Amino acid sequence: MTSNTRWNVVALVVVLATVIALIMPSHFATAFDVSRMTPVADRNIRTGNKMLIEKEIIEERQVVSENDSNSTQAEVALDEDMSFLDEDDGDSDDGVLDVNEIPVRYDEAQLWRVYNISNAMSRRNMLPLGDILESKYGGTIWKENSKFLDVSIDKKHVKAARAFLEDHNLNTEVLNYNIQEMIDNEAAVGANLTQSEAGQRTKKAARSGIHWKDYHDLDTIYAFMREIRGKFPNICRLYTIGKTAEGRDLKVLRISENPKNYKKIWIDGGIHAREWISPATVTFILYQLMSKWQEQPDYIRQRTWYVMPVMNPDGYEYSRQFNRLWRKNRAPAKRSQCLGVDLNRNFDIGWNGYGSSTNPCSDTYRGESAGSELETDAVVKFLTKRKYNLDAYLTFHSYGQMVVYPWAYKAVKVRDSGVLQRVATTAVQRIEKKTGEIYRASVTHEVLGIAGGGSDDWTRAALGTQYVYTIELRDRGHFGFVLPPSQILETAIEGYTVVDTVAQAIK
Ligand SMILES: [Zn+2]
Repeated sequence: MTSNTRWNVVALVVVLATVIALIMPSHFATAFDVSRMTPVADRNIRTGNKMLIEKEIIEERQVVSENDSNSTQAEVALDEDMSFLDEDDGDSDDGVLDVNEIPVRYDEAQLWRVYNISNAMSRRNMLPLGDILESKYGGTIWKENSKFLDVSIDKKHVKAARAFLEDHNLNTEVLNYNIQEMIDNEAAVGANLTQSEAGQRTKKAARSGIHWKDYHDLDTIYAFMREIRGKFPNICRLYTIGKTAEGRDLKVLRISENPKNYKKIWIDGGIHAREWISPATVTFILYQLMSKWQEQPDYIRQRTWYVMPVMNPDGYEYSRQFNRLWRKNRAPAKRSQCLGVDLNRNFDIGWNGYGSSTNPCSDTYRGESAGSELETDAVVKFLTKRKYNLDAYLTFHSYGQMVVYPWAYKAVKVRDSGVLQRVATTAVQRIEKKTGEIYRASVTHEVLGIAGGGSDDWTRAALGTQYVYTIELRDRGHFGFVLPPSQILETAIEGYTVVDTVAQAIK
């Protein structure tokens, strides 16, 4: 290299540095404000399914456009598909824009129930209806069974999707006309609670401030578990049984006066992120068990309880912050840009079978292999070690108002289905007496369709636990996952009624 060229290089570096210095301040001065950003149209990005846009790609584009415009002051011109980076692109200090952090809105999106889906579709030899509505009309599947399909459709697809269903003579009922309004109403409750009602959490007092007038974040739920442990140190033990992909703790609280000898009951919630009523119900069950512990009947006190309110903390927090309808965990996939595995399709039972997807972008993606997920693995290991005397496994989901038992992965009932049906029937009768709500007791595959990889089937098959129930909480399809906070308490009482009934059934 001659000294001349060396000087040229130095000059070029100086010019480039000046260019960058001039652009930087305007670029990074504004704070990252996701609420001001316009969501992009891509379906996967909209649903938060896509991973980060790589830092390198963004920077490369900036350098290219700087050179093109050949101007020191020019705004960074971006391709049209990157236009959402305009103005507010100064996001975080490291220059990485996480498309997953664009809040997903559902303005005037409608919730539909489509009937007779299997007949109509099988006659025509078509793809399953759910797949068509997802891929062609950007639909989000809420619920699918042999009788009907609940799906939300974005405003812009409503007309076309309706025409498609009419073409196929599919009877459709509109359950809700504006999902965003429903989400906003749900959120408004917390804002309207007075401070004392909402509870104030101070580090000193270590009070969770939990209540059942609203849904709570993970921190509050975990603080509540610590609070219970603090109040009953002799009979409580708080486990961290593992960590999630995003580094959150997986926590289980054990309550027992005699862990060696008492029959065990496991209760979990929040496997599916968007089913907020589930963790709310499980925390209420914990409260209900402990608030009058001394006066509890023997069938409550002489049990060992394992309570895990949130099995999918990453998904739960994501649904609270960015996408109310998120279902899976948040683990990155190896060979896809889409995120998340359906934990209730990831257990090692009928994993290869019906009712789950091999597509990482699907809401029912089963994962790379059975038990591949950190959450699944932690629960499987923890329960396997404690299978002795494990007589009940109760897992809370929403929605549909059902108490169901195995199997789900095949169209067969467990051998002692008579006993399970009887206990479930007792529970639903007691619920009706308490709150007036109708729940249905049944074997799973008959009412929810066949699906492999569920935690309930796995516990029954692998551990031999007798009383295995999945409880689908409220409602029956008006609000769906977005159940108004005003219904939390009654729904939680319904959940506790199932727990109480099963605890009593154990001999
Ligand atoms: Zn669920």
